[in-house]
Amino acid sequence: MNDSPLNPQQKKLRIAIIGGGVCGLVCAVTLMKVGVDVQLYEASAKFGEVGAGVGLGPNAIRVLEQLGLLDEVVAKSDQAKPETRPFHIASGYGDNELIYDYPVKPEDVGLGIHRVAFLDAISQFVDLSKTHFNKRCVSLNHSKNKSEIMIQFSDGTSATADVVLGADGVRSVVRTYVTEGAEGYTTPGRFVRTSYTNTLAYRGLVPDSKVVELGMKTVMNKTPICWVGLDKHIITFPIKGATLINVVAFVTDRSKPPSLDPLPQPWVTQHSTETLLTTFSDFGADPLTLLGCIESPSAWAIHSTHPLLDSYASGRVALMGDAAHAMLPHLGAGAGQGLEDAFVLVKLLSHSETTSANVESVLQAYSMVRRPRGNFVLEASARNGDIYEMRGQSGGTMEGMRKDLPGIWDFWYHDLEEDYNKAIQWLQEKQVFA
Ligand SMILES: Cc1cc2nc3c(=O)[nH]c(=O)nc-3n(C[C@H](O)[C@H](O)[C@H](O)COP(=O)(O)OP(=O)(O)OC[C@H]3O[C@@H](n4cnc5c(N)ncnc54)[C@H](O)[C@@H]3O)c2cc1C
Repeated sequence: MNDSPLNPQQKKLRIAIIGGGVCGLVCAVTLMKVGVDVQLYEASAKFGEVGAGVGLGPNAIRVLEQLGLLDEVVAKSDQAKPETRPFHIASGYGDNELIYDYPVKPEDVGLGIHRVAFLDAISQFVDLSKTHFNKRCVSLNHSKNKSEIMIQFSDGTSATADVVLGADGVRSVVRTYVTEGAEGYTTPGRFVRTSYTNTLAYRGLVPDSKVVELGMKTVMNKTPICWVGLDKHIITFPIKGATLINVVAFVTDRSKPPSLDPLPQPWVTQHSTETLLTTFSDFGADPLTLLGCIESPSAWAIHSTHPLLDSYASGRVALMGDAAHAMLPHLGAGAGQGLEDAFVLVKLLSHSETTSANVESVLQAYSMVRRPRGNFVLEASARNGDIYEMRGQSGGTMEGMRKDLPGIWDFWYHDLEEDYNKAIQWLQEKQVFA
């Protein structure tokens, strides 16, 4: 982080963060740590009311380490430390022939953690006097001279800030301001640039002991596995000291293009085991045995940011995490991208030359370096889903998939310091910074 003390102008910079999820909470805590005036507004009554398992890749681990938060996150996970996790990609059909064993380097360490545990780890550092629960933002507006942003909440209250960071997830309300301005808030409850991907993700947990008892041939408790199929695939990975197998079964309807509108809520619905077994009935014995153990699968209608955003910032408002780039989860990359956003934003906002007078340019610099990266990973995630569902560029044969799978996680090797330096250089060229 920036080592120089905050200047008096910075101390006056009032930042409001909307959304205390993975990205908003990390951003808030890190800004609070360096003394920036941050108020955090969260719609729920507490952090982490909902969620499931999240895999954090090497890029996310590096961010947490640099922000000084990794030890706490590891302590709340089921792992003693971040570890390499080989990944087996096998056919979902017949005897589940191995297609590709993803090679991992020793430095490619990751961590699996439940979202609630992650938030628990980070929230111990939050200043509760600056945290406001049950505050659902419904709209933003700016003052006449655009020097302040007014935030309206669903309970009729409001707040003002010099800068607003939207970390309010896939159903972002702040996104409307960035894409359409204050005039966009005409219809309450409308989410812009959020579309249904036509992908349903059925989720469930299965005890590993049950898998063994039922005589499954595949060893489930060692590594993550992907069973591929036509327009569907299953991802499994061991959690809770490998006593439980986390199962996510994806089904994509490719008969129609993604709609430009979100589905009516709820986006998470309960289903029967039979639905799951019927959907995957042409898969081999092991996948079916596993799916048969999920008693009450929940199905998540996966939404993503579509069309992609032209900018992650407008005026004094910027977006981060899923608010900026909600993506299909086929690279396990969404949270990691949000953490990268937080890293760059925190460094720029706590820079000794950032003030209320130049913060619009600072947010433009943030968008300039983060938008290509976030949008690239979003598109790569969708392409990876195509490969897993036998629709990749080189076709759905084993040979085709073996051509397309190498390097799918190359996005882990990204230099965030370079992004930050590029942003600073741009600010210097524009004579915003000396
Ligand atoms: C099936 C599935 C599997 C996934 N697996 C992975 C994985 O393995 N690895 C990975 O990195 N990512 C994964 N993801 C994606 C990951 O969960 C998200 O990218 C990540 O949670 C985004 O964090 P966020 O902070 O932007 O949003 P969220 O975590 O969604 O947090 C948003 C917060 O904002 C609050 N909020 C919402 N609206 C308002 C409002 N109007 N006012 C105030 N507060 C508001 C919410 O209550 C919430 O606390 C997966 C996603 C899905 C659906």
